[in-house]
Amino acid sequence: MSYGALSAAGGYVGWRMAHTWQPEGPKLGDEPTIKVADASRIEPAHQMLDPLADEGGFGRQRTEPGTQASDQAAYLQKIRDFDEVYPEDVILGVDQLAILKSTARRLTKAQRVIGHGHFNLLNFDNLLKYCRRYSSIGRFSQQELDLLEELFAADATDYGFYGEKVQTELTTEIAEKDTAKIADTGHFLFRGEAQTKYEKMRQDLDGGIFLTSGIRNVVKQMQLFLDKAVTTDGNLSQASRSLAPPGYSFHAVGDFDIGKVGAGLDNFNEVFAETDEYKKLVDLGYIELRYTPTNPFGVRHEPWHIKMKA
Ligand SMILES: [Zn+2]
Repeated sequence: MSYGALSAAGGYVGWRMAHTWQPEGPKLGDEPTIKVADASRIEPAHQMLDPLADEGGFGRQRTEPGTQASDQAAYLQKIRDFDEVYPEDVILGVDQLAILKSTARRLTKAQRVIGHGHFNLLNFDNLLKYCRRYSSIGRFSQQELDLLEELFAADATDYGFYGEKVQTELTTEIAEKDTAKIADTGHFLFRGEAQTKYEKMRQDLDGGIFLTSGIRNVVKQMQLFLDKAVTTDGNLSQASRSLAPPGYSFHAVGDFDIGKVGAGLDNFNEVFAETDEYKKLVDLGYIELRYTPTNPFGVRHEPWHIKMKA
């Protein structure tokens, strides 16, 4: 089943219509439906046509010089206050949000049946097999499947995520033989560079750090992204400022997250960068970040996310 076939069948009223999600390029006449806390902040539709133009020219040439500095400041402000709602955010309508929620619930049920560890590596076809086999998960409805396919097929720059797409197939497989299960974490790393780097870091820190997330295939990234989008009431832009959309996560190709033993949720905010463990890793030359405080990808600063692939 392909995204194109689904669109051609016309069986799904996609959010692209309501939210300027048109892979062939938005049309000027289409008013986007967006939901913001303060309606007076809604900007004209044309402001949404070229998100990169609003970000100080990252990756593209601006046509109007002169405002670059203020645009860049606004962009940096946005990734600093990543959890705010902005007028240009792309937000699902009520119907799509309901489908998103039921899809997220089904993914969570699947994870419960399959187990957190294995779920990280699971590919999409096998997910569907589990859904057919276990009534406690249940099959995805056509609308839920359409949502997953559309989300995966989408160009994330449409909602403000400018990172590279690293997985182009919804059904990408990750061979278990290429991975190593990391003891006591429930997570996996690719054998070779990633595993070696992690083990050396942990050894040099006397076991003071641990793996909080390793390899994530498309299905796991979908589950995380949908859960995030539920918490943002369907605001895909807000969700993507702190989590790569499915297909765009470098966790699929080698990156991993580390945390300080015993630090709990503080491993996922700026507090981590203040820990002795983090500072020591910096001193030892281990820290190469993908999402720096000034990254051009539209993502918050993630000091815990270790970059492996260039
Ligand atoms: Zn990460």
